[in-house]
Amino acid sequence: MSKSYISTKLRKLVSDRAQNCCEYCLIPESLTLVSHQVDHVIAEKHGGKTTEENLALSCSLCNQAKGSDIASIDLETGDVIRLYHPRQDQWRENFQIEESSGVIYPLTAIGRVTIQLLKINRSACLPYRQMLAQAKILVQK
Ligand SMILES: [Zn+2]
Repeated sequence: MSKSYISTKLRKLVSDRAQNCCEYCLIPESLTLVSHQVDHVIAEKHGGKTTEENLALSCSLCNQAKGSDIASIDLETGDVIRLYHPRQDQWRENFQIEESSGVIYPLTAIGRVTIQLLKINRSACLPYRQMLAQAKILVQK
């Protein structure tokens, strides 16, 4: 799928706004081997625009798992629930991090489907997130 060109200026705005951390799983770009990517929160094929309000910084693993999806099935209720929207939702209202483990728990159905679809608790992330949470330097919006 072809993607719209994202200018250097727009990419910098998105990275700076996110403090260089994935806006889904919170992992800082400095801890990853692959650069974070600019994610269309609502994918272009669903009409999402290449504008600040529809862009988020995502690590390559979250971005790959999310693909062009905008919703998933909540396994607890069977309902179709939209994914977390970093520009419209508050991270802290939808997720909570357990400092002792680095695991992110959902506070809402939106949190639940997003954690599940994006595989936010992938094991490779946990030691880093645990360390950053305990040092109180995770960016949680
Ligand atoms: Zn991520």
